[in-house]
Amino acid sequence: QAAPTPAPTAHSEALFARARAVTPGGVNSPVRAFRSVGGTPRFIARADGAYLTDADGTRLLDYIGSWGPMILGHNHPAVRGAIADALQYGTSFGAPGEREVLLAELVTRLTGVDRVRFVSSGTEATMSALRLARGVTGRKFIVKFRGNYHGHADGLLVEAGSGLLTNADGALGAAAPSSAGVPEEYAGLTLVSEYNDPAALDALMAARGSEVAAVIFEPVVGNAGVLIPTPEFLAALHRVKTHGALLIADEVMTGFRLSLGGATGLLGLRPDLICWGKIIGGGLPVGAYGGRAEVMDFVSPQGPVYQAGTLSGNPLAMAAGLATLSALEADPDLYARLGAYTTALADGLRDAASAAGVPISINHIGSMLTAFHLDAPDGSVRTYTDAAASDTKAFARWFQGMLGRGVYWAPSQFESIFVSGVHGDAELNATLDAARAAYVDLGRE
Ligand code: PMP
Repeated sequence: QAAPTPAPTAHSEALFARARAVTPGGVNSPVRAFRSVGGTPRFIARADGAYLTDADGTRLLDYIGSWGPMILGHNHPAVRGAIADALQYGTSFGAPGEREVLLAELVTRLTGVDRVRFVSSGTEATMSALRLARGVTGRKFIVKFRGNYHGHADGLLVEAGSGLLTNADGALGAAAPSSAGVPEEYAGLTLVSEYNDPAALDALMAARGSEVAAVIFEPVVGNAGVLIPTPEFLAALHRVKTHGALLIADEVMTGFRLSLGGATGLLGLRPDLICWGKIIGGGLPVGAYGGRAEVMDFVSPQGPVYQAGTLSGNPLAMAAGLATLSALEADPDLYARLGAYTTALADGLRDAASAAGVPISINHIGSMLTAFHLDAPDGSVRTYTDAAASDTKAFARWFQGMLGRGVYWAPSQFESIFVSGVHGDAELNATLDAARAAYVDLGRE
């Protein structure tokens, strides 16, 4: 494939300039600004199926899927129809309605939790689940893993210095905030351990376990690129319960994506609380957290842990979530198809990169995949530290090579891509044609 003629970006550039004047960095969520890959972020005018159309009229094959929600593809007729139907009856009640009951019934049935509370984002879900864990246990500290992302609540914007993490004596997890504006006192209540390091977690819990309210984790990591948990690490996670800490699975990304029962169902996990977002709202703003009745009944008004939301349970958002989860349930082969597509994508990328002499290491599971630009066997990237060794400049050049050929990959090395149910053979072939050419360009440099 010859080097592509650059697509026009004048409209995106003009919109980006106007946006920068009125919005910090010109975007409402940082990764959208293309800071780590360079170039003009494409402003999107519409989205259908597996494709986005940008403000200059260029059609792009989409692997972001709105960062996860669009597992059925964009503008799915059943989801659009459900929203349109709900719209006839008003957009927000501030009082309970039937759709909230229906979605809660569906979520509890699919995931095995007894009770679920709806919020409006993944950030709210994890923040609320942690408050609940602290309320239930009467303890202050939480444990998170380096490179896991759980939204932007103060206590979660924390990662430890690498020296502390690798201490052979057990990583006591003293942590520093990873954002300005987070007081050290908040950050000090978050202990950090290394993902996929069962010995570090055991040691941390042995030292501090009686003070720990909860251990929160991504059951499959998407936010350091894809990292897949080892069985030994999953066993160590379950051992935290013996210290009286609650185990919180953050399934904001993996819930209803890796299976109808999420990563929890796929990997046989038994967390005390689960957080959801993304797919549960079918592209509208929904988050949720749930668990056993005796834990969830600590939430107000049933219990003493306060949590509320003006737009929580919004009827349009509930309708989109209901339509999405119902469509997933009605198509039992979908997860196998997503997995087959993603495996074929991984095989094709590996062959294309190796033919061009570009080292990559692929992690993939279900419809999530990251190709790290580093020279290591597939599947050997297990920790944030492993992932951080990637050549991000090479990734950025490859990303631009893909975008220039009409394929919109996630604009950061440390993200998963998301395959949807409407990515088919045509999309796979187009992606691999573009990838072969982009790797050849990269190999030549
Ligand atoms: N947890 C995980 C695992 C996530 O991937 C994200 C968002 N990417 C969040 C929490 C935060 O969700 P939101 O952006 O909806 O606040």
